[in-house]
Amino acid sequence: MKLAVLTSGGDSAGMNAVVRAVVRAGILKGCETWIVREGYEGLVRGNVDADAPSAHNLATTLDVKVRDPSFINNLRFGDGSLLRDGTGDHPAGRTLKGRYIVRVGWDDVRGWFAEGGTLIGTARSQTFRTPEGRLTAAYNLIKEGIDALVVCGGDGSLTGADIFRAEWPTLVETLRSQDRITDEQVARHGHLKIVGLVGSIDNDMSLTDLTIGAPTALHRICEAIDNIHSTAISHSRAFVLEVMGRHCGWLSLMGGVSAGADFIFIPERPPKANPWEDEMCETIHRHRENGKRKTIVIVAEGAHDANLKPIRADYVKDVLTERLGLDTRVTTLGHIQRGGRPCAWDRIWPTLQGLDAVDALLEATPDTPSYMIGMRENRVYRVPLVEAVKMTKAVAEAIENQDFDKAMSLRDPEFRESLEGFFATSTLEKNPLLPPEKRIRVGIMHMGAPAGGMNAATRAAVRYCIRQGHKPLAISNGFRGLLDDSVHELSWLGVDNWTVRGGSELGTNRTLPDRDLGAVASKFQEHHIQALLMIGGFETFSSLLILEAGRKYYPAFHIPMVHIPATISNNVPMTEISLGSDTSLNALVDACDSIKQSASASRNRVFVVETQGGMCGYIATMGALAVGANIVYTPEIGINLDILREDVKLLKIRYGLDEKGKSEGRVVIRSEKASDIYTTEVITKIFKEEGGSLFDARLVSLGHTLQGGVPSPLDRAYGVRFALKSMAFIEKHHEQLRGKKFRERQASPESAAVITLQSSAIKWVPVIEMVEHGDIKNRRGKDPWWIGYKELVESLVARPQLL
Ligand code: ATP
Repeated sequence: MKLAVLTSGGDSAGMNAVVRAVVRAGILKGCETWIVREGYEGLVRGNVDADAPSAHNLATTLDVKVRDPSFINNLRFGDGSLLRDGTGDHPAGRTLKGRYIVRVGWDDVRGWFAEGGTLIGTARSQTFRTPEGRLTAAYNLIKEGIDALVVCGGDGSLTGADIFRAEWPTLVETLRSQDRITDEQVARHGHLKIVGLVGSIDNDMSLTDLTIGAPTALHRICEAIDNIHSTAISHSRAFVLEVMGRHCGWLSLMGGVSAGADFIFIPERPPKANPWEDEMCETIHRHRENGKRKTIVIVAEGAHDANLKPIRADYVKDVLTERLGLDTRVTTLGHIQRGGRPCAWDRIWPTLQGLDAVDALLEATPDTPSYMIGMRENRVYRVPLVEAVKMTKAVAEAIENQDFDKAMSLRDPEFRESLEGFFATSTLEKNPLLPPEKRIRVGIMHMGAPAGGMNAATRAAVRYCIRQGHKPLAISNGFRGLLDDSVHELSWLGVDNWTVRGGSELGTNRTLPDRDLGAVASKFQEHHIQALLMIGGFETFSSLLILEAGRKYYPAFHIPMVHIPATISNNVPMTEISLGSDTSLNALVDACDSIKQSASASRNRVFVVETQGGMCGYIATMGALAVGANIVYTPEIGINLDILREDVKLLKIRYGLDEKGKSEGRVVIRSEKASDIYTTEVITKIFKEEGGSLFDARLVSLGHTLQGGVPSPLDRAYGVRFALKSMAFIEKHHEQLRGKKFRERQASPESAAVITLQSSAIKWVPVIEMVEHGDIKNRRGKDPWWIGYKELVESLVARPQLL
C-alpha cells in the first residue's frame, strides 16, 4: 500500500505525533509512506514540476545491513530539514519547491514529538471545496500511485474527506474519460482508502471524547488562568477571558472546571435567564459577598444568548464594571492557545491513533466504511466517518435552530457531566439543596504520597457538600491526624484556589487504620463521621480494605466509604487512571524535552533517565511512549544480562546508522525498581563503556520532580469528575442506611468501593472484589492494561528490525 498523510484546517499540537506514527507504522507494515504538504491545498497542487528530482533522490541512502530489506529502502532518504522547505530553512539545493506530495522515510519524522503545530504544513483550501479541485487532487494522488490517505484535521477537514471518499469513483471515471489516467490506474485506484483523525483544538467533533490538540490548548488556557490568579487576587479584580471555540464550548467549560471560573458562556448552553446579565451579576455578587477577591468569567468565541445574539468579552466586562463596580479586564488568549509543546496526552494518544489509522487502512475493503479514529475515555476506537460528520453537523444545526437541549444531548455524556460539575463546584447557591434530614457529615482524607489533582478533587467534594447542605470535614494527615483529632470543617471560600495547587492541602500520612482500629472507630463516632472519602494510592486501597473488614466489630464503619485513586505510580488495581499520573507524565515529558535539547548540542549522548513508580512501570512505559525513548526498563519485566547485551547492540546499530555529525541524544527510561542489581548507575556505566566512540552515556534521576508542581488540567478535571461521582455514590448508599439506629446499621459490602476507569467507562468496584485483581506483595494491579505498550515503544524505534 502507498499511503499518504496530510494535516488540514487549523493546526493543533499532536499533529506531528500523528504524522510520525503514521509514517513509522506504515513503514513497519511494508507500506510506502508519503506526506502531503499544506493540507488539501498540497493535494490539489501536487507535484507541479515533473522534472524535479524526487525526495528519494535528494537524500542520502543507507548502506548499513539490517535484516529486512524493505526496511532499508524506507529507513532514510531525506532528513527533517527537507520537510521544512517553504518555511525557508532548508539547506540550499534541497528544494521541495513545487513538490507537495513527497515520499518520506523513517528518520524524516525523528524528534517530531516535541514540536507544536504541524511540520508538514496546513492550509484552508478553497480549491478543494470545488469539484474541479477534488478532481485534480484525485489525479495527483493517482499519478503518484497513492491508494490510501490519512487526514488529520477538524470537522471541516473530515467533512472534506468524507465528500472526497464518496465522490472518488466518479472522479476516477471522469479522469479516465478525459484520458488523464489509464485503465490500469482505474483498476488499481477504484477505491480510495481513507481514514480521519481529529486534529482540532476545539474538541468539536462528535463521537470522540478528545480531539488531538485540545488537551494542549487546555494546558495553555489553564496556565493563563493560573497566571492571572495572582494579579486578580492582589487587585481584587475581575477578568473576562475569551477562549477559542466557535461551535463548541469544551475549552471554556473545561477551563472553567479545571482552573475555577465564576461564570462561563458556551454556545451549546446559553444562559437560561433572560436577561442573562442579571443571572451573571447575581452569581458573581454572591461570590464576592462570600469573600472572593477574584472573579473569572470565560467566554467562548462562539458564545451567544438564547436568541443567538453573540456575547462578547468586552460587553461582559462593561456589565461587570457598570453593575458591580468591579475593576474588570479582558484577556483574549487567541492563538496562544494553539501553540507550544504538546502535552503528554497529545503525544501518546495521537501516536496510538496514528497506529490504528494504518491498521484501519490495511484492513479496509470496498465494503468497509471509512473510519474516523477517536478516543473514548482511555481507549482508541473507530467510528464510521460519515456518522461522526453527521452527528457533528447535527450539533451545529441544533444550535442554529436554538434547540439547545438537543445540542447538549448530542454532545457526549462527559460534556454534560462536566457542565453539571462546573455548576456544582463553581456556583454558590443561596440555600442548600437537600432537606436537613438528608444532610450528612463527610470526612475527607488524603493518604500516601501527594499527587496532582488531590486538591482539585477535594475542592469539588467540599463545594458539592456545601451546595447540598452536607458538612465537609477535613481529616488532616491521614489516620494519624484522625487519632490526633486534626479534624476541621472546610468552607466554600477556603478551598477556592485548591485546583491550582500541587501537593496535598490536607496533608498525607501512610499510617494504616489497623494500627489501632478501635481508636479509629471511636474517632469516627466522636466526630459523627457519616461517610468517608479517601483520596490516595495503594495505602488508601489497603486502608479501605481494613475498614471494610472492621465492620464486623465496629458499627462506626457501617457508613459509605469511598476511595479515589490518586498516585503518580498509577498502581491501584483495576483502574486505568489515578489522579496525579498525568501531571507526572507531563513532568517527565518536560524533563526529557530539556534533556534532549541539551543532547542536541552534545549529539551522541544516551541519557538514562530514572523515574519513580515503585513496583509499577506505568510512568516509565507511558513516559517512554510520550518522549520516544529507545529503551524502557520496568519492574514488571525486570532486567538481566541478556536484555542488556541486546540493548547495547541496539544502541550501537542505531548510532551507527546516524548520518555523520548528525547523531542525536537518545533517551532510555528506567523505572526506579526495575532491578536491584542493574541500577541506573550500573546501566549508565555499561552504556558508557560499551558505547566507545559511537555514544556516551549520562544518568538523570528525576526523583520527586515527577510529583509535578502545578497539577495538569486533565488531573484536575478527572479529580472533579471522580469527586462528584463519589459524592453521588455516598448519598445513594447513605440513603439506604438513613434512619437506622447506630448499632443496627448494616452497610452493604458495595458501599465500601473504589472508583475506577475501566475500558472507557467509570465503574465502582467494591473493595473486597479488588483484592483478587491486586498483586498485594508488589503493590500493583495484576494484568495492567498498558503492559503491551512497551512493545510499541520498541516498535516505534524499529527495535525488532534493527536487532
Ligand atoms: P478547525 O477545527 O481548526 O477549523 P477544520 O478542519 O474544521 O479545522 P476548515 O477550514 O473547516 O477547518 O476545513 C479545512 C479544509 O477542509 C478546508 O479549507 C477545505 O479545503 C476542506 N473542507 C472543509 N469543508 C469541506 C467541504 N464541505 N467540502 C470539501 N472540502 C472541505
